Amino acid sequence: MYTSFEQLINDCMQCNKCELCATRTNVVFGTGNPKAEIMFVGEGPGENEDLTGEPFVGRGGKLLDKYLNTIGLDRSKNVYIANIVKCRPPENRDPKPEEQEQCIDWLREQFRLIRPKLVVCLGRIAACRLISQDYKVTSQHGQIVMKGSTAFMGTFHPAALLRNPNNKEAALQDFIEIRKFIEKNNIRV
Ligand code: SF4
Repeated sequence: MYTSFEQLINDCMQCNKCELCATRTNVVFGTGNPKAEIMFVGEGPGENEDLTGEPFVGRGGKLLDKYLNTIGLDRSKNVYIANIVKCRPPENRDPKPEEQEQCIDWLREQFRLIRPKLVVCLGRIAACRLISQDYKVTSQHGQIVMKGSTAFMGTFHPAALLRNPNNKEAALQDFIEIRKFIEKNNIRV
């Protein structure tokens, strides 16, 4: 258990607990404000993220930033963004269950130190890992699920929205629900 965010980052940067360490360029630990009360969690880094060391850059990242900005959120100010696995799965395949299992402790420590009041899962992999194993984004997106004192919501992964723009309006509605939740629960932004 870590007491310092810096120490956590330091150790994560040197992690070689799973086979993804062999093919990564950078560990993508996370970005944003570690004192934020809202976290967004995706599945894992893609090519641009692996090269830059930052989550959600490239076209998907720009789309995420657009949705965030629409509801008054900003990755540099009032949210924290991370992934289930911190190293890129080759060819952008899904992270294997055993890779997720090895990596999840880093996210658990991020949760423990940041203590988010709302965690938004971006896409199926994050929602299945953090909300429920059989989570279906198409039918369950936008719903708040309480786990202890932390609220969880699943929504579409930005890369999936680029592939299927028909869901963009539904994703926007989810972000509007996030804003309502923020206001109703006095979440600091
Ligand atoms: S994916 Fe996670 S567990 Fe695997 S090497 Fe990277 S940081 Fe370590």
